[in-house]
Amino acid sequence: MEDFKKGSPLGLGLISGGLDSLIACLLLKLQNIEVIGLNFKSPFCVCDKAYKNSECGLNLYYDKLGIKTYFLQKENDYLEVIRNPKFGYGKNLNPCIDCRIYILKKAKKFADKINADFIFTGEVLDQRPKSQNLKALKTIEKEAFLEGKLLRPLSALLLKPTILEEKGIIDRSKLLGIKGRSRKLQLELARSHGLLNEYYACGGCLLTEKEFASRMRDYLKFNKILTMDDVRLLKYGRHFRFNHSKIIIGRNKLENGLLLQLKGPDDILMEAAEVHGPITLILGRIDVEVINFAASLTLRYSDAKNSHGKIIFGKEPKTLTEHLIVEKATQDYLKPFLL
Ligand code: SF4
Repeated sequence: MEDFKKGSPLGLGLISGGLDSLIACLLLKLQNIEVIGLNFKSPFCVCDKAYKNSECGLNLYYDKLGIKTYFLQKENDYLEVIRNPKFGYGKNLNPCIDCRIYILKKAKKFADKINADFIFTGEVLDQRPKSQNLKALKTIEKEAFLEGKLLRPLSALLLKPTILEEKGIIDRSKLLGIKGRSRKLQLELARSHGLLNEYYACGGCLLTEKEFASRMRDYLKFNKILTMDDVRLLKYGRHFRFNHSKIIIGRNKLENGLLLQLKGPDDILMEAAEVHGPITLILGRIDVEVINFAASLTLRYSDAKNSHGKIIFGKEPKTLTEHLIVEKATQDYLKPFLL
């Protein structure tokens, strides 16, 4: 691992690609602190925008503040955090407090590797009611074993001084006392330092979305061993639960391609034989009942005009040799199975 120490203190910043972490970095750069960024990736991120929009996202850290950013993946152990969060969920299946603790623990190990003097975040007091109130911020710090050592430059003046401020490593007078959801001051600072002109909400988290949370709950319920590869499958297609089987139906060409890529060796592939239609994947227990059910769904989402049609299926895309004639599922019939 490269040695980043250049004489001045080195801070490792948890950066999301959003405005708050950008300003947290700016505040430290303005007092000549060396900053390295750390960004966590996972299939739950909805952050393609960060890479497409030159006015938004992680590229700003490189381009305008000269900050090197590292990327770490949330790993399979994160899924156990979602299954059983010590501090509960937010609005949907987002275990925000436990999530922060998880990434800070990983960040701490990374900070040791690069010999960073401290860790900081772009958290703002009371910006989110559950995970960023004073009690939550203290809990996060304590559970991540960072008591007194975690700097939050945007709200520092409203929080107890960290050891870094007490020792004079960080000049507290150059930090801020922002509270709440408004990003007015952050945007003013970004503008005045030529970082960006407009505020773009960056990224997002699928765990906060109702439809995805329902799929995720189903996944947690039916699977003992959890993997991030399985989670990727939850992002695409229409999902149906049929007893111990899961049926996924592509909604367009792109999703059909992705389902083919993500198919496991034991999953069954299915498609309409005589008309254009979706790729269907069947996971879990395979029996006659689920094959018939999945086939009726596959026909429903195909271009078939008739009420009955031929469906082919098998384990490999090029050898869908099995076939059957089924009746198209009606909306009322399939609705109870839809996740
Ligand atoms: S919104 Fe998602 S990524 Fe953000 S803290 Fe909550 S669980 Fe973690």
